[in-house]
Amino acid sequence: MKVVMLGAPGAGKGTQAKKIAAKYNIPHISTGDIFRANIKNGTELGKKAKTYMDQGLLVPDELVVDLVVDRVNQEDCADGYVLDGFPRTIPQAEALTKALASQGQKLDYAIDVDVPDENIVRRMSGRRACVGCGATYHLEYAPTKKEGICDVCGGELILRDDDKPETVEKRLGVYHEQTQPLIDYYTNAGILKRVDGTVDIEEVFQAVVQILGE
Ligand code: ADP
Ligand code: ADP
Ligand code: ZN
Repeated sequence: MKVVMLGAPGAGKGTQAKKIAAKYNIPHISTGDIFRANIKNGTELGKKAKTYMDQGLLVPDELVVDLVVDRVNQEDCADGYVLDGFPRTIPQAEALTKALASQGQKLDYAIDVDVPDENIVRRMSGRRACVGCGATYHLEYAPTKKEGICDVCGGELILRDDDKPETVEKRLGVYHEQTQPLIDYYTNAGILKRVDGTVDIEEVFQAVVQILGE
């Protein structure tokens, strides 16, 4: 099963993608996580990506497309995967469609996690990420057992630089301009499914499972 998650920054793509990966036993591929790991490790890619990410801008297509195409061609993706944060532009979507078609494959579902802009800034300002393992929490909606400490690895939790309100506004603008057109793209491809992302995490997941099957 090959699934793409769509939605505004903070809509809950990552949260749902992790649950999908666990239930259906497929890899969760997050381009944001890949970039953050590269930044942490001080790679060339990380240095390049950081200059865009810090400004709330998208990393250029040429830095992301090959990376994802290589990743989905790895052995652990043979039974499918859930892509989170990719594609984010029409050229990225076209490149993915083409790469899959060259192997006689296609995506099964594009799931749009729908959350209005009004809710996004609050979601983002409460989001906390673990510096150790990248796990994501929310102060109000998905708290850790012990305040400020990751449930998974005991690491420290931080507010991502790009989750500060000024940058969130910028990212929302970028989303509407560059990423939202993918909703039409995948509607036309006949694989778009929409879920209400404003209800609680488990309820969103129930709607996702309705789509993907038990
Ligand atoms: P969120 O899930 O909150 O939207 P991500 O972790 O997916 O954020 O992405 C963080 C940043 O990484 C983006 O704002 C962008 O700069 C960069 N990024 C991630 N994926 C892509 C992509 N497919 N194309 C371009 N830039 C990307
Ligand atoms: P995205 O990957 O789309 O940027 P995340 O999955 O990181 O979004 O979620 C953004 C923030 O909102 C996180 O702090 C997360 O814990 C929280 N969150 C995710 N889904 C929900 C939900 N349905 N209701 C309330 N908070 C949520
Ligand atoms: Zn952790």
